[in-house]
Amino acid sequence: MKDATLTRKADPDHRSAIALSETVSVGGETLLIVGGPCAVESAAQMEQVAQHLSSTPVQALRGGVFKPRTSPYAFQGMGEAGLQILADVRQRFAMPVISEVMAIDQIELMADYVDVLQMGSRNMQNFDLLKALGRTTKPVLLKRGLAATLEEFVMAAEYILSHGNPNVVLCERGIRSFDTYTRNVLDLGAVVALKQITHLPVLVDPSHAAGKRELVPALARAAIAAGADGLIVECHPIPDESVSDARQALTLEEMAALAHSLAPIAAALGRCLEPAGTACEPELEAVSGAILFQGDSANAIVA
Ligand code: PEP
Ligand code: MN
Repeated sequence: MKDATLTRKADPDHRSAIALSETVSVGGETLLIVGGPCAVESAAQMEQVAQHLSSTPVQALRGGVFKPRTSPYAFQGMGEAGLQILADVRQRFAMPVISEVMAIDQIELMADYVDVLQMGSRNMQNFDLLKALGRTTKPVLLKRGLAATLEEFVMAAEYILSHGNPNVVLCERGIRSFDTYTRNVLDLGAVVALKQITHLPVLVDPSHAAGKRELVPALARAAIAAGADGLIVECHPIPDESVSDARQALTLEEMAALAHSLAPIAAALGRCLEPAGTACEPELEAVSGAILFQGDSANAIVA
């Protein structure tokens, strides 16, 4: 990846932390846990989600309003009305919100309502959209393409950085393979490699990787153990009634339990979880995790 000059680590300890709001950031010591439905469906739905998650280690909310659906006849998202709902919960619960942008002409509109623009898998190599996001200062959550190599993924991020926006968060969300039991294959090897190659934060989306809710919590914990900087997970007040991706949605109770279950893993790695707005205090001292991290990546910089 010789052209990946801006995304590449300068030295083994080089890590970028990116602020999503005044109080929430990703890439530092604190893990970023994002929860919410696949799609914004109503004000009541988002309020229930925010209300339930705001007292847990989930610090940010997700919800699509422009949805990339396989079928043109499937629900395409609420559009601007959904953005208004996101802006409302963001303000009332002081939680940053993340939503997918699908087109250049949505960027300006969305920038007023959301904290992070998600670039979906299906758009990872939409180079004009990457360049346009590079001309903003909004944090971008760049999801790995359905069948993108790590080089293609890193170079997509490089497009955004090289056009002026340093605020890029990578997201591994599973890649296509031959098996149909899971929706995709969660590539944790990619998480380890990306943390060694780039200084950008790396999130994991176990929901779109697994496609089945019963697989999500264990994959989420494995992702944190592998060194991810956080998670983005789909959950819904009534999962089976989700308008999209119902099969992979957790209940709000399961989402909270998942977030809490990360605490010992985070502590073992010298990282912490943080209820929104409170101080980060790891439960344990950073023990072998921190030492391991440095040693592990020392050999990998040449990539
Ligand atoms: C989503 O986050 O709802 C989504 C469509 O994700 P992906 O682009 O990873 O499929
Ligand atoms: Mn989804």
